[in-house]
Amino acid sequence: MTDAPGIVVTGASGRMGQMLIETINASDRANLVGAIERPGHGWIGKDLGEMMGGMSSGVIVTDDALEAFAKAQAVVDFTSPAASVDFAALAAQARCVHVIGTTGFAESDLKKIGAAARHATVIRAGNMSLGVNLLVQLTKKAAAALDDDYDIEVIEAHHNQKVDAPSGTALMLGQAAADGRNISLENAADRARDGITGARERGQIGFHAVRGGDIVGEHDVLFAAPGERIVLRHVASDRAVFARGAVKAALWGQGRRPGEYDMLDVLGLKE
Ligand code: NAP
Repeated sequence: MTDAPGIVVTGASGRMGQMLIETINASDRANLVGAIERPGHGWIGKDLGEMMGGMSSGVIVTDDALEAFAKAQAVVDFTSPAASVDFAALAAQARCVHVIGTTGFAESDLKKIGAAARHATVIRAGNMSLGVNLLVQLTKKAAAALDDDYDIEVIEAHHNQKVDAPSGTALMLGQAAADGRNISLENAADRARDGITGARERGQIGFHAVRGGDIVGEHDVLFAAPGERIVLRHVASDRAVFARGAVKAALWGQGRRPGEYDMLDVLGLKE
């Protein structure tokens, strides 16, 4: 256990934060060495295990990210875009592998993460599950094989607390479809239909976001043509799939050259 890489979890009290902590604690290939929350959060200075309703764990929740990162080999970060941008700079300073599961980044955020990745190994993916990353490759293949007689629509569903739309995964799938067709997603994306929109434009890639209850994450990629429809679907029923993927990424990143990677690299699915 002592030789296993030490991992810090940011946003420790969050839905994914708690799932990550449980996953790391259950693994004999990784050690939990730190837990971060924002300044002023009620968990700061308290024992993480006790805050999660269990036994004392010896890990005290802190808001001093740099100090915690300096003692770790990897940071696993599912928080907010602003927080992840700050953590990227600190992880690079501490020479830690930074696994980013956060979604909803603006282009300007991604530039800052790219700058941090000149000095650190950054693995970022809008979805860390094996199934979705396989779906990305299948979407690219299907879009390449089917011409624009086939209208592509990406439909996603998530719980009612999700703050960004379309989901990071939906955007990954849209990007895969655009790559398969060799077109720009920026030009093809149709993200909000409402009112008298006119007929659907040929070649568009549509996005739809359903929000409700405790849905963990569902994604359909629809290829609809006159007379037939193909639907590629992934349903996540347990957040543990994302947490396991993120921990796998943290271990995969050990000893890698600085740069930006994604889950296709980690899972060996890149073509
Ligand atoms: P959540 O329950 O709201 O958790 C986010 C956590 O981050 C909260 O504890 C929040 O604290 C904390 N946080 C925010 N800013 C912080 C800061 N500056 N310093 C420290 N902690 C900070 O959300 P979630 O459902 O876990 O999702 C988190 C992110 O992961 C979202 O972007 C979501 O889309 C993404 N996600 C990605 C995947 C994937 O596979 N890539 C899967 C699931 C979710 P407060 O409560 O104090 O704000």
